[in-house]
Amino acid sequence: MKRIAVFPGSFDPFTLGHLDIIDRAEDLFDEIIVAIGTNAAKKYMWTLEERKERLETLFKNRPTIKVETYDGLTADFCKARDAKYILRGLRNTTDFNYEQTIAQANQKVNGVDSVFLISSPEHSFISSSIVRDIARNSGDYSALVP
Ligand code: ADP
Repeated sequence: MKRIAVFPGSFDPFTLGHLDIIDRAEDLFDEIIVAIGTNAAKKYMWTLEERKERLETLFKNRPTIKVETYDGLTADFCKARDAKYILRGLRNTTDFNYEQTIAQANQKVNGVDSVFLISSPEHSFISSSIVRDIARNSGDYSALVP
């Protein structure tokens, strides 16, 4: 049985913090699906196509890392892909508090377990929203993204 994990997120944009989580989780799973969630109510800075293309290019030589888009519940997407695990990164207690109840609900309702990796100290300050702030003000964010 293949151990498949879904790494869900907006990835608007994908940062070095996200990459760090994938690099470190690679050995834990046979396959990681980087799943770009689409939420019609949310305003994104980069289009879904831009985000998907960027990730496909980044992982084109890594066959165990797949890139997909999805809408609806992450747990339903996991079921459709036969993924038993959701991979998430934790930077701080705010992330933890947000993730805890979602992970417990996913486990109880769908039998999907979440696997958390604590971010590396050098990446824990990085967030997509900081990158978007810099981008909006025409700043240089190249040190924060792959
Ligand atoms: P979401 O909108 O679902 O939070 P994000 O694209 O912001 O999506 O993040 C996806 C996942 O990556 C989340 O688990 C988030 O906590 C994690 N993550 C984001 N930034 C970092 C970072 N700098 N280090 C480690 N994990 C991170």
